Amino acid sequence: MGEFELIQRCFAQAGRQRPDVTVGIGDDGAVLQVREGCDLVVTTDSMIEGTHFFPDVDPRALGHKLVAVNVSDLAAMGAEPCWLSLGLTLPHVDETWLTAFAEGLSETADYYNCQLIGGDTTKGPLSLTMIAKGQVPKGKALTRAGAKVGDYLYVTGTLGDAALGLKLVQNQVEVSKKHRAHLLQRFHYPTARVALGQALRTIASSAMDVSDGLAGDIHHILRRSGVGASIDVSRIPMSQALKDSCSPEQALQLALSGGEDYELLFTVPEIRRSSLDVLLSPYGVPVTCIGRITGVAGKLELKQGESLLQYQHKGFEHF
Ligand SMILES: [Mg+2]
Repeated sequence: MGEFELIQRCFAQAGRQRPDVTVGIGDDGAVLQVREGCDLVVTTDSMIEGTHFFPDVDPRALGHKLVAVNVSDLAAMGAEPCWLSLGLTLPHVDETWLTAFAEGLSETADYYNCQLIGGDTTKGPLSLTMIAKGQVPKGKALTRAGAKVGDYLYVTGTLGDAALGLKLVQNQVEVSKKHRAHLLQRFHYPTARVALGQALRTIASSAMDVSDGLAGDIHHILRRSGVGASIDVSRIPMSQALKDSCSPEQALQLALSGGEDYELLFTVPEIRRSSLDVLLSPYGVPVTCIGRITGVAGKLELKQGESLLQYQHKGFEHF
């Protein structure tokens, strides 16, 4: 079998086979049926060897993560994930690697109801680019721009686990056996908060996913909404695994500036706050209020109880 056929075979049926794909892989382009009354939401995420992952990473985990981080962006927009395209640059074709990568990608795409509908393969240093497309009822997409002064600031799940998982992978820390699996899982197999993101369409005034660390990422909402924020760091949700494995200072540092948790950060107006618990409880994902939106544009204030904290770390920046 030639390289071309091998690549074709690995990805031909990847993900959930959706009835709204009129033409999928194998033609010059895909033909997709966007539902009546919906907007199309499109996002792109790249993962480059050496920058986003280590050369020896399990290719199955890599396939999973590429899908999950793209779908997480759709979740943050309140969209329903539907279609994926893959841009794959490979130094050479390694059948074992490619098969495992494609399986991880396909399983995760299937989990999120997404079909791989096309892509392109080129030769070069290993790099993966995915374009994810989703649908949202017209005009209902969540953005980073709607936060208002007085809104409450929430985050899903727990923060800092993936950053500690990364330190584990790099052999920079030691953690007890009972927490190891959880932390590695959070780093290698992040979960996109898809159902919750869609539920937030009627509740949240703004939303985004936390990919590069809370303290840095929140500035995207502050900038786009023209507001400030005050966070009580003692309320930031942390897993038992993180708390047991680090000093309180290090745990807070990881929760504030460690990336790759892919939790949702969102704001809720006071008037809709009371319906939050009822509307979100079916999803089984904890949500925690960590602060409020303030009127000082661009300013992030960090408090611990009543005292102000000095904090310089602004999350992970690529340039
Ligand atoms: Mg994002």
